[in-house]
Amino acid sequence: MVSFEQLCELCEKLEATSSRLMLARLVADFLRQCSPEEVEASVRLILGKPIPAGYLRALEVSYSTILSVVLRLTSSTKQEFAKIYNKYGDLGSAVKELFEKKPPPKQVLLVEQPLTILEVHRQLMAMADAVGPGSRLRKERILAGLLTRSTPLMAKYLVKAIGGEMRHGVREGVLEEAIAKAFATSPELVRRAHMLSGDIAKVARIARERGEAGLKKMGPTVFSPLRPMLAEAANSVDDALTTHGGKTLLEYKLDGARVQIHVKNGVVRVFSRHMKDVTESLPEVVEMVRNNLRAKEAILEGEVVGVSRDGKLLPFQYLMRRFRRVQDIEAVAKQIPVKLFLFDLLYVDGESLIDQPLTERRKRLEEVAGNLSIIKQIAASSSDEASKFFEEAVSEGHEGLVAKQPTSPYTPGIRGKKWLKIKKTPETLDLVIIAAEYGHGYRHKWLSDYYLAARDSETGGFVQVGKTFTGLTDEEIEEMTKRLLELEVSRRGRVVFVQPKVVVEVAFAEIQKSPHYKGGYALRFARITRIRDDKEPEEADTIERVREIFEKQCGRSKESSST
Ligand code: ATP
Repeated sequence: MVSFEQLCELCEKLEATSSRLMLARLVADFLRQCSPEEVEASVRLILGKPIPAGYLRALEVSYSTILSVVLRLTSSTKQEFAKIYNKYGDLGSAVKELFEKKPPPKQVLLVEQPLTILEVHRQLMAMADAVGPGSRLRKERILAGLLTRSTPLMAKYLVKAIGGEMRHGVREGVLEEAIAKAFATSPELVRRAHMLSGDIAKVARIARERGEAGLKKMGPTVFSPLRPMLAEAANSVDDALTTHGGKTLLEYKLDGARVQIHVKNGVVRVFSRHMKDVTESLPEVVEMVRNNLRAKEAILEGEVVGVSRDGKLLPFQYLMRRFRRVQDIEAVAKQIPVKLFLFDLLYVDGESLIDQPLTERRKRLEEVAGNLSIIKQIAASSSDEASKFFEEAVSEGHEGLVAKQPTSPYTPGIRGKKWLKIKKTPETLDLVIIAAEYGHGYRHKWLSDYYLAARDSETGGFVQVGKTFTGLTDEEIEEMTKRLLELEVSRRGRVVFVQPKVVVEVAFAEIQKSPHYKGGYALRFARITRIRDDKEPEEADTIERVREIFEKQCGRSKESSST
């Protein structure tokens, strides 16, 4: 049995290593000594995603829950913790130091058994399974039980795995290489199995258990969500036509939420863009699919959009309320009805369609959809046709268009040029809130001024690029205040520093060079245009992207000054 402490020692080594090759080698050596079950659990813990995507429940342990358990066990105050936290800017490292200074009292057990990887993983699954009344208390008990059996180093990585913030540089790409190295197979095969199954931990286990033959057999599996294929941005329909070789398929870009729908023998489950189970939030979608689909088994993709009483499609914000308030879903469903528009079919009755061209997938989708709505699509081969369709989309209130290459296969998890999005709105950035300030006047009770940060892809940290107090409604500010207080790590005067978890889409007038911010750039007149609950902080825009926009902007102003 491999102990959890061994896994933590590995993570420490990873943290001190920067070479990708070395990272993969260290992980490979570790995985080789594990049983198949341990391989799967280790990969989940190393990634900081202990609960498999597609599992019915999420871990749902808030930062404030972790903090309250840690403070109670070490008899510390919030202030003591904040002082240490500010030294590292990292929850796990701060917990380690606190545990070294004030170790929690040990449990008296008849036989002192070290925590194994499997036990830690089992307990985290039990935390996810704790739902309903008293669930917070149950989660706290499990966490406290684990922490009292932990050394400071183990506490560090336990907290990191729960918070999903490993910061040791090993992500899915390095893991693919490590798995190939550990079990003597090719990285391409591992990558493909990962792409098709969407679950790198399962891939690792199959590689360990069944080798190459097992990996070759992996494909889309009903109830195991695949990572969605994503679109790159294009400047215009003409650019999209050129990129797609003169002919492209155009669809409206609906302003809703992406869903992947899995169906098997009358059971329907719906997954979000992040492979989170959102079935309970969308009962009428489930009903519609169950009653209309002409197939026993299928994996479908589409966009769910909120509709008003008079049948108009509503902007994204309305829809997001459906995903947040699961408790009283029936009441909310009445208030915010939704409509489903399908646009892809990845699997049907035992057959994977992933490698088929889009035109074939669309044909098969039309065959099985019955009365379900499919998104309107036109084939365009001239600039006029494409521009007319774009104008039509915009005048109907949609975000713009998605242009799809007719011959393209479905490539899960890949953002490429096979799908291009052309939007009507000017450029926006998806940024992370890292702190917030209490407002003035009637907003004095609310955190209404937000510090916005871009991702630093090298360190995995976040660098501030601006501040804003505009864009959100009072109701949204009130809700945001509650969320941010749950993520609070420290305070200075009226400013509350938070865990970087909330992603917002931000519009701005321009980007300037700035000596005030570490990243060197600042947004002018930033305004939040939406809360991106469908995005993870790792998907926020990077500081490199901010620089790119700045440079593009400089190019534009040079062009306009020379004409
Ligand atoms: P954005 O911030 O522009 O929504 P994103 O990062 O969420 O981008 P992209 O892959 O860049 O996702 O853009 C495609 C998204 O647009 C899809 O994830 C989906 O939610 C949405 N969408 C709307 N209409 C379509 C369509 N017809 N085909 C594919 N995706 C569509």
